[in-house]
Amino acid sequence: MPYDNNNIFAKILRGEIPCDKVYENEHVLAFNDIGPQAPTHVLVIPKGEYVSQDDFTNNASDAEIAALWRAVGYIARDVLDLADAGYRTIQNTGPDGGQEVPHFHVHICGGKRLGRMIPE
Ligand code: AMP
Repeated sequence: MPYDNNNIFAKILRGEIPCDKVYENEHVLAFNDIGPQAPTHVLVIPKGEYVSQDDFTNNASDAEIAALWRAVGYIARDVLDLADAGYRTIQNTGPDGGQEVPHFHVHICGGKRLGRMIPE
């Protein structure tokens, strides 16, 4: 699946639509999810053009991959203060994974007991 430059997160990265920014560095941008499914629900995205986790882990550089996961940990611990209580990261991939936005993103969800990982 080729990268779609018109996806909503590409528009956020270009500054064409706003986001509620939580953190940014050279490689990543993090912002609050517009439809939060937990008291804290933040999305962390790479600035590079990757469709999904599959695309990212196969095609991103080691530096981009390290930066993304370092940022996820930093944001959860130092920005959102979730490390002690715990939290969940989710990466939906493709149709069966329920991915809606075709730019790779990590959900950080927390702020309450989240229950079963996959509802029956
Ligand atoms: P996924 O189903 O894993 O692709 O998740 C996409 C997420 O993006 C959903 O949780 C949406 O609520 C969120 N989302 C969609 N548009 C925006 C936006 N403009 N700003 C912030 N979050 C968004």
